[in-house]
Amino acid sequence: MNIVQKGHEFIQERSCLHFREHDPVALARQTNITYLYYTFSEVLESCCLKFYNKPRGRRLVLITPLCKLPAQAGHATLHAMGLHHEKKFGFRDNEAKAVMFPDKCAQRIDALKIFEETLDDLSLQIHSNGR
Ligand SMILES: [Zn+2]
Repeated sequence: MNIVQKGHEFIQERSCLHFREHDPVALARQTNITYLYYTFSEVLESCCLKFYNKPRGRRLVLITPLCKLPAQAGHATLHAMGLHHEKKFGFRDNEAKAVMFPDKCAQRIDALKIFEETLDDLSLQIHSNGR
């Protein structure tokens, strides 16, 4: 399992979201579809990067060598989904909840519990090493 898959798993355990892998070429041919596109960088920078810049279509997620933990890949994913935060703070609880629990799901109660206990991991772990 690569770091992107681990990041997805990290989010799925504490949300009602479910990520599915698709053929990027097939997706690019479609209109009216929004998807996350992961790319890997060799630049040693935080994976707390705000590449969210368009409401529809391909949203870039840059995975850097400093993006080592599932929570960090999850953090980058949530930025691409439109979540943001001020530099010194993590994601806001209510905003993160709105993105991560868009609908009801069978695992909602358990996932909410994990979400509330570990929001700091998703939000701040990344910032504890310097940024
Ligand atoms: Zn961030």
